[in-house]
Amino acid sequence: MRSKLIKPIHQLTNSPMKLSDKQQLFTRNIGKLIKYAHLMGFGLSFGHAWRSPEEQQRLFDQGLSKTLASMHLSRLAVDFNVFTNGGLCLDWQQIKVLGDYWESLHPNNRWGGDWNGNDLKDGFIDCPHFEMRG
Ligand SMILES: [Zn+2]
Repeated sequence: MRSKLIKPIHQLTNSPMKLSDKQQLFTRNIGKLIKYAHLMGFGLSFGHAWRSPEEQQRLFDQGLSKTLASMHLSRLAVDFNVFTNGGLCLDWQQIKVLGDYWESLHPNNRWGGDWNGNDLKDGFIDCPHFEMRG
């Protein structure tokens, strides 16, 4: 059963672009990001992509997410496990190369390693997260 407390972000905005079109644009850009990561020598595997409201509530309750209005609910976010030299990479500076590329693909693209776009490692950091705002 779906929670009535959580509304996907697309229901809260009046953007003229249909959600399905946004999702398809997002997915095409994720394809570009995957290719770019490969070119730059990174390996990627998928973490969360779509997330149910119930799952989002659970992550929020555990403090693993800061919002109940995650773009994951609208199929406009994906988390990647990033690998370098065969090992999982959690280094902000290294992954920022991917974040910068991601943000260059569309003005609404946001990397979780730099939510406020100030090019600094500050505030809540979520390096695996790549999203397109509604
Ligand atoms: Zn995420």
